[in-house]
Amino acid sequence: MVTAPPLAEFPWLHHEFGTRHSAPLTGRVATLRQIHSAAVWSVRQSSRGLNEGGCLGEGDALITNEPGLLLAIRTADCVPILLVDPVRRVVAAVHAGWRGTVAGVLTQTVRQMHTDYETNPMDLVAAIGPAIGPCCFEVGSDVPLPLVAGKADLWEANRMQLEQAGVAAIWTAGKCTMCQPGMFYSFRRAKETGRMVSAIGLRE
Ligand SMILES: [Zn+2]
Repeated sequence: MVTAPPLAEFPWLHHEFGTRHSAPLTGRVATLRQIHSAAVWSVRQSSRGLNEGGCLGEGDALITNEPGLLLAIRTADCVPILLVDPVRRVVAAVHAGWRGTVAGVLTQTVRQMHTDYETNPMDLVAAIGPAIGPCCFEVGSDVPLPLVAGKADLWEANRMQLEQAGVAAIWTAGKCTMCQPGMFYSFRRAKETGRMVSAIGLRE
């Protein structure tokens, strides 16, 4: 797995960016049917007690403040982003391909963390995980992102989105899924069906 040093500093936090060699997650895990949208889910403890996890519905970002629940997203070339508010102890996991990036899924996630949990964006620590890099992401002019020599930079587009939302502490893995076949699945490289699972959660 790949971990982000700024997130590894919090002993009460579990986080990981999956690789093709990662072990499956265990315990209570909340997931979504990912649809390349800006739909965000807040996973709250219900009156019936602990949330059991499982697939909650359609969307591309999950937020919780519930200890013991892992939020997981699956990616191959799309960007996994993990967020933590160490002040309010709230976490989020976000799936951002180019469509989600353009739709502003990170902007929506930061906004909803503020609305639902009173997160101040200034407190957030963000980690942008392994994803197809500006070295490899060739796209057509139909993709409304800045292009350099026909290539789009999803890492930078998402870093800027966080910055514009008021997030200052942003770490980027800088690892391209297409360039490192030994470590990552890449849909674009090989039409591989495998997905890496990235997750974040508060320890119980
Ligand atoms: Zn690359």
